[in-house]
Amino acid sequence: MRAESVEKVRRILCVFPRYTSSFGTFEYAYPLTDGVQAFMPPQGLLLIAAYLPANWPVRFIDENIRAATTEDFEWAEAVLVSGMHIQRQQMNDICRRAHAFDLPVAIGGPSVSACPDYYPSFDYLHVGELGDATNDLIARLARDPSRPERQVVLKTADRLDMTQFPLPAYELAELRKYFLGSIQYSSGCPYQCEFCDIPGLYGRNPRLKTPQQITAELDKLLECGIRGSVYFVDDNFIGNRKAALDLLPHLVEWQKKTGFVLRFSCEATLNIAKRPEILAGMREAFFSTIFCGIETPDPVALKAMHKDHNMMVPIMEGIRTINSFGMEVVSGIILGLDTDKPETGQNLLEFIEASQIPLLTINLLQALPKTPLWDRLMRENRLIEDEGRESNVDFHLPYEDVVRTWRACMGSAYQPGKLLARYEYQIRKTYPNQIKRPRSRQQASWQNVKLGLTMLRNIFWKVGILGDYKIEFWKFALRRLARGEIEHFISSMLVAHHLIMFAREASVGRHNASNYSIRLREASVPAE
Ligand code: SF4
Repeated sequence: MRAESVEKVRRILCVFPRYTSSFGTFEYAYPLTDGVQAFMPPQGLLLIAAYLPANWPVRFIDENIRAATTEDFEWAEAVLVSGMHIQRQQMNDICRRAHAFDLPVAIGGPSVSACPDYYPSFDYLHVGELGDATNDLIARLARDPSRPERQVVLKTADRLDMTQFPLPAYELAELRKYFLGSIQYSSGCPYQCEFCDIPGLYGRNPRLKTPQQITAELDKLLECGIRGSVYFVDDNFIGNRKAALDLLPHLVEWQKKTGFVLRFSCEATLNIAKRPEILAGMREAFFSTIFCGIETPDPVALKAMHKDHNMMVPIMEGIRTINSFGMEVVSGIILGLDTDKPETGQNLLEFIEASQIPLLTINLLQALPKTPLWDRLMRENRLIEDEGRESNVDFHLPYEDVVRTWRACMGSAYQPGKLLARYEYQIRKTYPNQIKRPRSRQQASWQNVKLGLTMLRNIFWKVGILGDYKIEFWKFALRRLARGEIEHFISSMLVAHHLIMFAREASVGRHNASNYSIRLREASVPAE
């Protein structure tokens, strides 16, 4: 459903802020593609765009692709912005630019919902999810599009049921310019890991869309030009196991109908390894990657952060089980925990070697507002507000040692030879367990073939000829070519090249040590 039509027509400009360069946004992979410029289409803003009254013209701009222009601001009567903490500076910058045109600016999404105080200059704060606050905002803009005298805070008390959500306005986004497609089936997570703000923001009882909504969204994503992979951005895909099981047969049917042109990935807790029936369904639906917040291989640390559910199956066994269903594990890792010791970095490198996980997002602990960790550190007087620091946590170990360990781990784990050896392992041990997709005319379409050829050309030229890890590259490439593993070669190299380049910069201190840190960086300069 969408908001009721109102007589007054308002032109709405939805602006999504640039990301600060991070490990998980894959920007070093973009030049190897055929024109990708951004990571994933933003679900929240495209949902709001779809919810606005049908008679309101809407423009959507992702500043990762292009900056909002004077013409855009002159066209608009109001501006909507959404984003995460890491985009805070960029959101404030969009507000400043919109105010130069005397436009009212509203901000919604996860960052303002957790920390309204971060956004003093916005005219409207939309705190919480889609619901009565959204209707109130629409009514106010309809009544009067001028800037209110003082900031208005609208809090959602009555959330719109997810089964009532409209299909996100994918038609407004240039989907071909995104590295991955995104989709959301559920919101919320039943666990309460100490550092995580999801249960506080979205609740512990996951709320759901219907499988029919998901297949309709997938249809729309395809129609609007998405290719390659679609990521389920659910906080925990198995937060409600029965719901996951209900959805999977619909995904399998959808894949059969559309010729298995897309592969899926998601985030889920590692105890998914205890659910072979879910893993089997995911294999049939062609899930190829699961992001698991393993966080640390240290059981004492897992207990301390209330992530005991990661130990329901021995970690290594859990990873191998997921691999046996054809899915690669991507792992979140945190350094700087209270339980860390001087040997933690070495233990992590040994874990990476043993697990053969290629991609691990290694972050320094950052305390987010609305988390038990924040409350505890506040009580212990261990929160440090300093934008020159890599984390807001006063670690137990000396700060310099923790940062040095992070850099050393990044530098070692992503040495080209080591990383490509881990991909070699996945190609030999994990990917052969994937479903054998029936060859379809959609997969063999000229567009797909052209895309593959373009990426191959770019990889060979930019990495194989111009790159600076040629020996490791060609060893890996020639083995793939000899075995006809072209698809695996392309997908591994896109990600591997990003990781190698990003980690190299990070290990000499040119990137943030936390995806959540708001440390000022050159990459986060305003869009114009
Ligand atoms: S399992 Fe994941 S989403 Fe759930 S509370 Fe823990 S970290 Fe957050």
